[in-house]
Amino acid sequence: MQSFKNKEYYQILGIKPSAAQKEVKVAYRALARKYHPDVNKGNKLSEEKFKEIGEAYFVLSDEKKRKQYDLLKGYNQVKNEENASQQTKKRASDAYTEKSEEKSTTEKTSKPNKEPQHDKSFNDVFNEFLDNVFNKNNFTEPPSSQPKPKQTGASKKRGDDIMADISISIAEAHNGTTRKVNILHTDPCGQCKGTKLTNGSTCIICNGKGEVTNHKKINVKIPTNVKEGSKIRIPYEGNKGQNGGQNGDLYLLIHIQKHSMFTFENLNVLCEIPVTPSEAALGAEIDVPTIDGHVNMRIPSETQSGQKFRLAGEGIADSQSGKRGDQLVTIMIGIPDNLSEKEKQLYQELARIRKFNPRENIVYEYDK
Ligand SMILES: [Zn+2]
Repeated sequence: MQSFKNKEYYQILGIKPSAAQKEVKVAYRALARKYHPDVNKGNKLSEEKFKEIGEAYFVLSDEKKRKQYDLLKGYNQVKNEENASQQTKKRASDAYTEKSEEKSTTEKTSKPNKEPQHDKSFNDVFNEFLDNVFNKNNFTEPPSSQPKPKQTGASKKRGDDIMADISISIAEAHNGTTRKVNILHTDPCGQCKGTKLTNGSTCIICNGKGEVTNHKKINVKIPTNVKEGSKIRIPYEGNKGQNGGQNGDLYLLIHIQKHSMFTFENLNVLCEIPVTPSEAALGAEIDVPTIDGHVNMRIPSETQSGQKFRLAGEGIADSQSGKRGDQLVTIMIGIPDNLSEKEKQLYQELARIRKFNPRENIVYEYDK
């Protein structure tokens, strides 16, 4: 969510700032499908676009974040200014908990103010809001568990949040998993402390940028039953705060890889497996994919098309008991394309030596 002030989230999703939450979702889904990395393998542009869409959705799908963003961009030109002022003030104080102590002290020592708080002009409140919330990029309330950072002369700046996409399999989404996530941090340069200068000349560590990019590997636990588009927040793993400001958070946006083979029914996994006519007729050992990998499955001779086999315990684990469902394999007999003359002859031979009518038991309505 770096430099989100410059982002045009509505434009990215192709919707109007007045769009309802449902429209946001619909627009996101359509675009995410179009630019999904699985569909556009190796296309850097699509990948960028996909990230952009995810970020836009991340902000706009959340009422609170969206309101903050709208305010910042000036999208919510509320007609009733007083109403707007009250709303803004409330939001501002919501996100203002970090400095609330100082604030209440100044209020106590200042002369009693007869005028009710909401008479503050919209601009005052708005500016206060921007100063205290957006300059810190502070979307989440500062948790009380983090120790108060030491105060220094310079003003504290909260680190930016980082958002990363993570792609997991259907099985991982159901069962939960742990992932090592590579994160690119932008942190203040340790050499020049973000001042861009060391001993009066350009800092050579950061080339005068004042910040450096660091790789970090983080082990993330992904809970069971996560859904496509879920966000997992890992506190303080975002960019480093400056001057004692707290770190930003890391958000992982979950993408679930589609699987062409499986459908799901409660804890059971369903799939269709094609076999050749000879495998079905003579029996065979066939390789069947499962959500964990693959297993060998024996089909008996004279297996019928549509016949179902159960692979016990190869389904999804129940999130409470851990007990797994089954995989139900439906056999489908496939006839090869482009039969050779020899093959055709053999099928004709088969037809000749075996008078078999698979439709002999069909009762037609008009025969009754
Ligand atoms: Zn530096």
